[in-house]
Amino acid sequence: MKKIRILVCDPIHDDGIKALMEAGFEVELQTSISGSELVEAVIEYDALVVRSRTKVTKEVFEAGIRLKAVARAGVGLDNIDLEEAKKGGVEVLNSPEAPSNAVAELVLGLMLSLARRIPEADSSMKRGEWIKRRLTGSELKGKTLGIIGFGRIGYILGKKAKAMEMRVLTYDVVVDQLMHLVEEVGAEAVSMEELLKESDFVSLHVPLLPQTRHMIGAREIEVMKESAYLINAARGGIVEEDALREALTIGRLAGAALDVFEKEPPEDTSLTGLRSTVCLPHIGAATEEAQRANSTIVAKKLIELLSRG
Ligand code: NAD
Repeated sequence: MKKIRILVCDPIHDDGIKALMEAGFEVELQTSISGSELVEAVIEYDALVVRSRTKVTKEVFEAGIRLKAVARAGVGLDNIDLEEAKKGGVEVLNSPEAPSNAVAELVLGLMLSLARRIPEADSSMKRGEWIKRRLTGSELKGKTLGIIGFGRIGYILGKKAKAMEMRVLTYDVVVDQLMHLVEEVGAEAVSMEELLKESDFVSLHVPLLPQTRHMIGAREIEVMKESAYLINAARGGIVEEDALREALTIGRLAGAALDVFEKEPPEDTSLTGLRSTVCLPHIGAATEEAQRANSTIVAKKLIELLSRG
């Protein structure tokens, strides 16, 4: 029988490559292959593994007469022509579950950073100051966390928040289908209005869709407590940045932590420069473990698919 051949087109963690080899596949690495080189080479392969650099175009699918699968180590599929994949009966795999824990842990870090003013305290020390008296914070224990979107990340965050002895509220469009998870976590499913009204921290974990664009704007902020914090580690565009900037400037919200922005990097520092914000350059998924998981998860999915024949 002809050996199954896989071409890895972008650098991925070694563990996934090892798993593919151990499964008996012939794996080749050409991690700086150009678009035209791929069109020529693809005829030899049963599957491609890519990240975001390699574009899997109509021409690649047309030339890839042996191609059965394209695996994207990561989430976004914008670099793959999905219509052509469907036309050619080529399966497209990805690993949206890989960064979930990394993002949930980061949100926990952001909550603690906001509540205990850790970044502010650190930068004051770096300036040679000792402003202990001005840095009284608050504790997470006993506070209410509102999680908007109880999918992979929202669920993990809920569990972690419970371990911090927080009350957890959640709102999700398909919450009826998620009640077993809501109950397992010990969270409470509520309306968006109730969540906004009662939460000390509101954290967003929905995808960016036309329905979620500017889901948090002036009207929603108006419902929130003045002492509340908003956290967005989902996607820029879910929060209306002008409304958030205005609310923070007039003290209508206590603070915000942002890992994502409408424009990345942001065009100016009018939001990132505020004392009440903690801002990060989209590092939610940037852990060694999440990168490893990207590669091992797509390898496992590829092995299952290709072993079926
Ligand atoms: P998921 O698909 O598992 O969960 C999303 C949840 O949002 C679902 O349960 C869905 O029903 C719910 N939802 C969708 N529209 C809604 C609406 N209008 N109102 C309320 N709920 C709604 O996704 P996930 O893996 O938990 O990831 C969530 C988001 O986090 C992703 O879409 C992505 O944009 C973002 N993300 C960010 C980073 C980062 O680096 N900061 C990394 C990974 C993912």
